[in-house]
Amino acid sequence: MDGGPGIKIGRILGIPIYLHASWFIIFALITFSLAKQFAYQHSHWTDAQHWAAGLITSLLFFGSVLFHELAHSVVALRYRIPVVSITLFIFGGVARIGREPASAKQEFNIAIAGPFSSYLLAGGFRLLMGVFPSSDMLGALAEWLSITNLALATFNLIPGFPLDGGRILRALVWGVTGDFARAARIAARSGQLVAYGLIVFGIWRSLTGSFRDGLWLAFIGWFLLTAAQESYAQVHEPRPAHGRASHLARRLQLRSAAHRPPLPPGS
Ligand SMILES: [Zn+2]
Repeated sequence: MDGGPGIKIGRILGIPIYLHASWFIIFALITFSLAKQFAYQHSHWTDAQHWAAGLITSLLFFGSVLFHELAHSVVALRYRIPVVSITLFIFGGVARIGREPASAKQEFNIAIAGPFSSYLLAGGFRLLMGVFPSSDMLGALAEWLSITNLALATFNLIPGFPLDGGRILRALVWGVTGDFARAARIAARSGQLVAYGLIVFGIWRSLTGSFRDGLWLAFIGWFLLTAAQESYAQVHEPRPAHGRASHLARRLQLRSAAHRPPLPPGS
């Protein structure tokens, strides 16, 4: 699963936006479980309202993921780093950037923009909750989106590559030591640890309590593990000269952190 391009749905800020085939699976799952959740919590609504609220909430959730990716992208573009594409896929979203940031500061700012934007959205939906009671469709939708964006931002701050937190860790070690390769290895190792932790915890949870939630966590862990191992292997690639684009500019399209929903559908 590389989150590579699928169906192009448009362009924002000149960046092509794609839906990967696997996205349709997660979109259907989240919509379906939200409709069921709303039916359980709001039995006075009609069936059509349960499904409409489920569909709109699910769309707004993926709109939130897109917003998160765009936040990374805007900062990257500000540093004149091209953004090749943004793709939504089964584990969330991924913004592909054309080259590595030229400095630790750039890497730090690009990485932190995503979680920051998700916290902003969580706050915005929280404000909406103050206006509409949670028994209303808008109130219920705002509550779920506020909690989910909060969880998305916090999950992505876990310091393991390729999560945003792993990139932040890499930027900090890079900034302090001035040694990119060492920083990248530490962040990738930390990413592997986080991934193994998620897999073990997911399997344990699937055996002891919630089978579906546990399995989902284990899958996310497996996806992160693959990405962390790839990035570890790439550390030995040549880097562009410090501070400016050089002729050694890497041809590799490095993936920015992927942003998967931190929660299993409907939890
Ligand atoms: Zn992010």
